[in-house]
Order: sequence, then C-alpha cells, then structure tokens
Amino acid sequence: MKVLVLNCGSSSVKYTLFKMNDKDEKKIAWGIIERIGLEDVYYKRQIINCIEKKETVNIKNHTEAVELLIKDLLHKKKGIISNINEIFVVGHRVVNGGNKFSKSVLVTKNVKKNLKDCFSIAPLHNFANYMGILAVEKILPGIPSVLVFDTVFHKTIPDYAYMYALPYELYKKDHIRKYGFHGISHNYVSQKAAEMFDKPLNKLNLITAHLGNGSSITAIKKGKVLDTSMGFTPLQGLVMGTRCGDIDPAVIIYLLDKYSQYRNNITLLNDLLNKKSGLLGISGISCDMRDIMQAIKNKNTKAILAFKMFIYSIKKYICAYYGILNGIDGLIFTGGIGENSANVRELICKNLDSLNIKINSKSNKNYSGVAKFVSPKNSIVKLLVIPTNEELLIARESKNVIVSN
Ligand code: ADP
Repeated sequence: MKVLVLNCGSSSVKYTLFKMNDKDEKKIAWGIIERIGLEDVYYKRQIINCIEKKETVNIKNHTEAVELLIKDLLHKKKGIISNINEIFVVGHRVVNGGNKFSKSVLVTKNVKKNLKDCFSIAPLHNFANYMGILAVEKILPGIPSVLVFDTVFHKTIPDYAYMYALPYELYKKDHIRKYGFHGISHNYVSQKAAEMFDKPLNKLNLITAHLGNGSSITAIKKGKVLDTSMGFTPLQGLVMGTRCGDIDPAVIIYLLDKYSQYRNNITLLNDLLNKKSGLLGISGISCDMRDIMQAIKNKNTKAILAFKMFIYSIKKYICAYYGILNGIDGLIFTGGIGENSANVRELICKNLDSLNIKINSKSNKNYSGVAKFVSPKNSIVKLLVIPTNEELLIARESKNVIVSN
C-alpha cells in the first residue's frame, strides 16, 4: 500500500510517498515546492532510482502545487504510480489542533469545521493545511485524508503545567494555554528510543531535545508528556534561529508603550519576536547555526554570545525537566542541529555530571546519521542521537486511522 504525506506550510508544500506493508516502510518519492505566492516557485523532487530534478515552475497556489506533484507521481515514464487509487491515504501534518483535536483523525465535514475553528490560534499554518486538504479533495477524489497534529502528543500535559497564570477567563474564552509543538518529532524519537532501550515506553523517563531552526524540549514521564518548552505558539522556550524564546512579557508592553510603529502595526512586533530575534537577532549575522559557528571561528563576539545563550537555554530546560521527572533514563538529541553538531551536544552535556549526564566524546564525534547511544557504556543516564522522521510517523498514524476505522 502507498501512503502520501503532505506538509503544507504558508508558502511551501513538502511531500513524501511511502510504500508500506507489515514488514517494510520505504520512502519511494519525495519533494518540495517552495516560494508559493512569489514569482519564482522552485520545485525539487526525487523519485527513487531517478536523478533529482530541480526547476522553476509556474504555480499560483497550494491546489496547483498538489496538482503538479500528483501529475509527476503519475508520469508515464518518470512517475512511480500508475493510478491515483494506488494511494491508500493522504496524511496531512497539522501544526495546531488547539483544544479541538486529541488524536489523529479522518477528514470529514465536521473535522474541517473544527480545523477552521482553530484558525484564530494558528492563522498562517492551519490555513495552509486546510488548503492542502481541499486540494486533495479536488485532485484525488475518493482518497481519504487523515490529519496528524503537532500538538496531540502534548495532550497529556497536566493543567498545572499547561495553564498560564493569567485570569482564568482568558483560558475559557480565548483558549490561551500552552499547546506545545514539534509533537510528531518528539513522539517519533521517544518511540525509537524505547526500541533502542529494548523497553516499553511506559517504563522510561526521557527528555527529548529537538534542536533545529525552531527548537523545543519535552519532558516525557513513562511515555506521557509532562511538559514541553514551546507554549501557546512556537515562540516560547529556547533561544531559536529567529525566535526569542522566553522573555519577560513586560518587554512587549514596554515596546508598545514606547514605539508608535508597533502600536500602529502589530505585524512589526510579531516579526521582531518571531523573525528578527534568536541567533539572528543577537549575532546580527544569521539564523543558521553553521554560519554562527563559522563566525565564532573568526572570533565574532556577538556570534559567541548568541551561541552561549543558545546552549545555556537548553541546559536550563534539561535541568528543570530532569528535576520534575525526578531523574531520567535517556536524553535524546534530534533536529538539524541536534543531529549534526557533535560540538553542540558536547557543550550541552558539559558540567552536568551531577545529574549523571556524561557524553562519550569519541562516540559523539563519530555519529554518522544512524540512531545511536553516545554516552559511556556504564552511564546511568543514556544519551542518544536519533534522526527524526516526522513523515514516517505521519504515514504510520494515517494508515492506522484508516485500518482501524
Ligand atoms: P527546521 O526547524 O527548519 O526543520 P532543521 O531541523 O532542518 O530546521 O535544522 C536547521 C538547523 O540545523 C540550521 O540552524 C542549520 O545550521 C543546522 N545544521 C545543519 N547541519 C549542521 C551542522 N553540520 N552543524 C551545525 N548545525 C547544523
């Protein structure tokens, strides 16, 4: 059976086609259509055993993007499916399911209405996801769609951890609370860690660190999320590529009071916090960790400061979550930075030996893209690097929803 996974962002559509059976889960085609809405739309795709293709395409919206990728998958010579009915289900990644969704669901009229109700708390992302669903209904009639949410894994967070200490009416009326994000990734790597420990997930206490352009940390107690660093939006928590993470909310009031441009145009303030802060804001160089590391080699003091702040914010969350979990079995690194930078992993773990967190430098440096332990053999707390695979988790969930329906 084939499962198509769609990840519709505000200006991009990413897709992966899996061939799945009981024993095998194989990625057979994947690609990305970027800059939708702009003049030059880029399309990059790979079908297994074929040379990668990159081109500029004439696409106006998400519907046309989905149309293009389906045409490509069906292409007589270069395609990989001969009929749309070969697609068993389409799995859609949805960033925010708000209070409306507590598990992955088959798309129905009612589900679409509930998704629309979540627009107010995640306007850009959820609208793009909705466009993806409509595109599939138009281009793949009769093929079921399943929604898999980034927020659902965090549904087990208790109220005392997800509530903000604001007047209670704001929670009741405006649904302001912590939702948490990156749940698909935290879920995938925690399942993979349980496999590697050869223990059921409900017997393990884990901290999962997804460190990418956006970063978040999750405390998982016996398989259930107890807390996570992102909040009502993905802005809260760690220092990120362009997001500020935790700050005193009074800073925002101060800025609004002092600068009329922010009062007159709230988008400017949103951009400041979401797009111009973090590593980029401090370094003034880049949001990309590789650029920051290069600048550090050139002794750029702001890049050094940005990097130190990034590491420090991660250490702080690890220590807090270690405490609320009352000890952990494993600390897992994933995401672009978590998977690729041995240096970042080493510095995060430095001087945490009072928590039994110790890294095996050699094993850490030798990580080559395959999930493995990077702590000394006799360590009480195991350290793991696990490449995340959000698409695979979405494909598995989507298949299971249809099979069990
Ligand atoms: P996103 O949150 O957009 O999915 P990714 O998980 O792809 O982001 O992570 C992107 C980040 O990973 C960037 O900051 C990039 O610099 C960083 N990264 C990728 N490779 C390396 C590397 N070898 N060393 C350090 N950072 C890296």
